[in-house]
Amino acid sequence: MNRVLIKDALTNTPAPAQVAVAGWVRTVRISKGGFSFITLNDGSCLASIQVVADKKLPNYEAEIVRLAAGSSVVVRGELVQSRGKGQAVEIQAAEVRVIGACDAERYPIQPKRHSFEFLRTQAHLRPRTNTFGAVARVRNEMCRAIHEFFQSRGFVYVHTPIITASDCEGAGQLFRVTTLEPGKADFAQDFFGRPTNLTVSGQLEAEAYACALGKVYTFGPTFRAEDSNTPRHLAEFWMVEPEMAFCDLKGDADLAEEFLKFIFKAVLDRCREDMEFFHKWVDKTVIDTLAAVAESDFVRLSYTEAVEILGKAERQWEFPPAWGSELQTEHERFLTEQTFRKPVIVTDFPAAIKPFYMRLNDEQPAGRETAAAMDVLVPRIGEIIGGSQREERLEVLAERMTAAGINPDDYWWYLDLRRYGSVPHAGFGLGLERTVQFVTGMANIRDVIPFPRTPRSAEY
Ligand code: ATP
Ligand code: MN
Repeated sequence: MNRVLIKDALTNTPAPAQVAVAGWVRTVRISKGGFSFITLNDGSCLASIQVVADKKLPNYEAEIVRLAAGSSVVVRGELVQSRGKGQAVEIQAAEVRVIGACDAERYPIQPKRHSFEFLRTQAHLRPRTNTFGAVARVRNEMCRAIHEFFQSRGFVYVHTPIITASDCEGAGQLFRVTTLEPGKADFAQDFFGRPTNLTVSGQLEAEAYACALGKVYTFGPTFRAEDSNTPRHLAEFWMVEPEMAFCDLKGDADLAEEFLKFIFKAVLDRCREDMEFFHKWVDKTVIDTLAAVAESDFVRLSYTEAVEILGKAERQWEFPPAWGSELQTEHERFLTEQTFRKPVIVTDFPAAIKPFYMRLNDEQPAGRETAAAMDVLVPRIGEIIGGSQREERLEVLAERMTAAGINPDDYWWYLDLRRYGSVPHAGFGLGLERTVQFVTGMANIRDVIPFPRTPRSAEY
């Protein structure tokens, strides 16, 4: 008999049917009436299915009444309308085959609420809990929506390298890739004959493809050795990076807004059950916030206007806002949570605090040069997207590199894109995990990626 997913069994119109399901036991309740109720979950949806096992089953005494939470079983039987409360259908078991027993005394996942901190120490078993199953399913739907969004708009999915010799952000937060013995720094002898690192962004390579295919996107793992132990930073995270030729900052911001709304709508449409779970147990505002954001117009304002607003705010800052300084998370959250109460796109940041590849704005007062950069800020998270129009003028780009202490010769191929048929182009990077956090309400980024990588933590 074909195995069906519990998700499909549960939504079956309950015409009696023979089914087989397979999964992990959540609970077993032995009834005095001579049968047992097993709740079985297979991860296909949040809900478990109820299995009714009669004492006439041959392995009833030997196995079924001893089943512990965590055991794996295959159940064959009839899908019938449930007589109990809480579920529409249940399975009247004709066979309960135990596949893998589970030692209830030692199984770390007990049928109770565990703290997220504890579950981080059980990252291999936490997907069997309601919360982490729901996170995994929502994350999956978001990835599907991301590809749908770009594919339906003519973007080409490009795979940029994981190992690279460039440092896109110029921030020096690189993981070195080497086959040299520790202590030997003669890179000429190294595997690639030069220093290489794990990529901090696929942008530079994506630009090459955008300047040939028009609209492209990358979606892959990204690595930053930032020693910041925050609830919003990982050493390994997933980033989505669209890049568009013949596009300016306004077009970039328009795409970012349309893109986020598309993802949020997709999750609301397709992950009802999981989102109701997050609403009930994690954050009572998530569904309303997502629905509101999906319908609202994002606020757009310049960095200069943002600093003015922050300067007038009556409150104590850890970092007093000042023109020329980075916007800190406290500033970002104030703008999106207090001032506007919706997503905010801040544009045109001081050039001095932005990487070399961001386009210098035309005609600016001396000392107040800005770059065509943008950050998208959302409540609870702060920055979720960072993007810019790229510098397409060869001389300006080369100057900016030199000023940043970068040797233009090392980026000869990147400069070639400006030598041969240069075009205005723009793009952005969306952090997948921060987006999953925003959607689910999960407070810590370590709980929205299966096996988080953070400073001094790379178990599994
Ligand atoms: P932040 O200032 O918050 O560290 P950033 O300015 O370094 O972010 P960008 O270089 O613009 O970020 O990267 C684009 C997006 O990638 C960010 O908006 C964010 O969503 C995500 N991101 C950046 N660094 C991390 C990280 N360490 N862990 C998870 N996501 C990240
Ligand atoms: Mn950062």
